Amino acid sequence: KSKARQKGGFLFFNTQINQQVHKDLQVESALRLALKNNEISVVYQPQILIQSGKIHGVEALVRWNSEQLGQISPVDFIGIAEDTGLIHEIGMFVLEQSLADISYFNTSQEHPIALSVNLSPRQLNAPQFVENLVTTVSQHDLDNQLITLEITESLLIEDLTYASPILQQLRDHGFNLSLDDFGTGYSSLSYLSNLPINEIKIDRSFVDKLLTSSESDNLVRAIIAIGESYRLTMVAEGVETAEQLAQLSNYHCHIAQGYYFDRPLSLTDLSHKYSAKISS
Ligand code: C2E
Ligand code: MG
Ligand code: MG
Ligand code: MG
Repeated sequence: KSKARQKGGFLFFNTQINQQVHKDLQVESALRLALKNNEISVVYQPQILIQSGKIHGVEALVRWNSEQLGQISPVDFIGIAEDTGLIHEIGMFVLEQSLADISYFNTSQEHPIALSVNLSPRQLNAPQFVENLVTTVSQHDLDNQLITLEITESLLIEDLTYASPILQQLRDHGFNLSLDDFGTGYSSLSYLSNLPINEIKIDRSFVDKLLTSSESDNLVRAIIAIGESYRLTMVAEGVETAEQLAQLSNYHCHIAQGYYFDRPLSLTDLSHKYSAKISS
């Protein structure tokens, strides 16, 4: 009986893999055409200064509305883009589009807002990556100091000896570096002192658990205290409730981002909501 179940389990598993491979191939071929067909766009999620309630900046998030496959989440295509090398083109598109959009947005602002862009560690492997980035940014009206590059720690740590000097060059050019999804990967305290980062984004899974137990509250409080001791800017992602925000404020977290404030917004919606607010 147990053998049959095993066999059934194996077959089921196998079919699942086949379906996944088939889906990945479909996504890959559609993705190759997506940039050409204007299916890729960028939305912006505000990052709010917890103390003042004012907007600090936005995180650029890629969107893909495929004619063949419908709306596809970056979670389902960034990995494929990384494996196929398409991440270089997509990453450059997101950078150019967001630089253009936010420098335009800033023309209506008394104080310019900052821009965070997600960077795949794979992009660091491109020849002349730093030079290309610097050139691209210099073609827009946004200071390097206003730009943060977010990198998730998991892929970064795989290739640390290669990535470290490149990250340092980026810092030397004035860009800010943020460790994204902090706490989900191989987070080791030694990385915090060895990597040239100046910001940590506390993963949503920790923010989610705030106020559910004193253990999880203490964990978030400890992460913020550690970041503080390294003089890092602490950003909480996935803030959904006023209670979570209040607790983060109690723990002296600097910046919050999440549905409590805004979903990721089109440039138009961002302008409608935040242009008037800032000047008032
Ligand atoms: P991330 O960088 O950690 O971005 C945060 C994700 O959480 C976004 O999902 C955002 O829409 C979502 N989010 C924000 N606030 C809340 C909230 O309050 N509740 C919940 N449940 N979710 C919230 P999204 O846009 O689907 O992006 C997923 C991931 O895909 C990103 O995670 C990032 O790792 C990656 N990604 C997105 N855009 C890019 C890009 O341009 N380049 C690269 N390399 N990766 C990207
Ligand atoms: Mg991010
Ligand atoms: Mg994140
Ligand atoms: Mg995340």
